[in-house]
Amino acid sequence: MNELMRILLIEDDRVIAKLISLAIKTNGYQVDTSENGSIALNMISQQNYDLILLDLGLPDMDGIEIIEFVRQSSKVPIIVISARERESDKVLALDTGANDYVTKPFNVGEVLARIRVALRNSTNELELKNF
Ligand code: CA
Repeated sequence: MNELMRILLIEDDRVIAKLISLAIKTNGYQVDTSENGSIALNMISQQNYDLILLDLGLPDMDGIEIIEFVRQSSKVPIIVISARERESDKVLALDTGANDYVTKPFNVGEVLARIRVALRNSTNELELKNF
């Protein structure tokens, strides 16, 4: 009943990816990582993830394109973690379909709390639907 939540982390900075994935695993989630957008899109079309953590500045595409792709078929929560801190970047990501936006440098504890919120909201929605 309480199977592990699966999180996809899309981040090309290996140090940051390692830091986040370690924190995620330590907190009892499963995590897959991708360093670029095209592999991430493949993973998304083959697996059901409970949440996506997304960097916007990827080597092969803009993270915004990933949000657009995912939103064509899925309501999976997307949390952007990006160095872009302009208001217009946040607005664009959120309007495209991201659920939340965290700027780098970030605090791991805050990211974990935001993950819990996003998962809580999406699980509530599922339970309401099944009620
Ligand atoms: Ca990046």
